[in-house]
Amino acid sequence: MFVSLVWSTPLVPAASQRAEIRLGGDLVSDVDVRVCDACQRAVLEHIRVDAAHGRCGVAREALAQVMEAWPGYSWSTTELDPEVAEFWRRVFWPTPVLLGAPQWCGHMAEAESAIGCE
Ligand SMILES: [Zn+2]
Repeated sequence: MFVSLVWSTPLVPAASQRAEIRLGGDLVSDVDVRVCDACQRAVLEHIRVDAAHGRCGVAREALAQVMEAWPGYSWSTTELDPEVAEFWRRVFWPTPVLLGAPQWCGHMAEAESAIGCE
């Protein structure tokens, strides 16, 4: 399985950014993260996988690559849906205590107001 991530550039630092997750050449999934280099803090906001590609390790592999992109950062997630709790028990996460407990920083809040809410 060849999973690759194609990142968009955030509009401003610490703003949300998305990666397309590709399996071979096909877009099968995407992930939204918010990363602050100043604080070395990152929040995983959303990961979506096409139903046809669920449960075959794409999301797990993609998450591993996300972690590798910002090694040593403090990784948290937005609140987890109970339906996906089982998934999260099976993936590697460097900071399990922060699963479902987003650690936003001031820079992320500034980025949000700089861009404006939709
Ligand atoms: Zn920050």
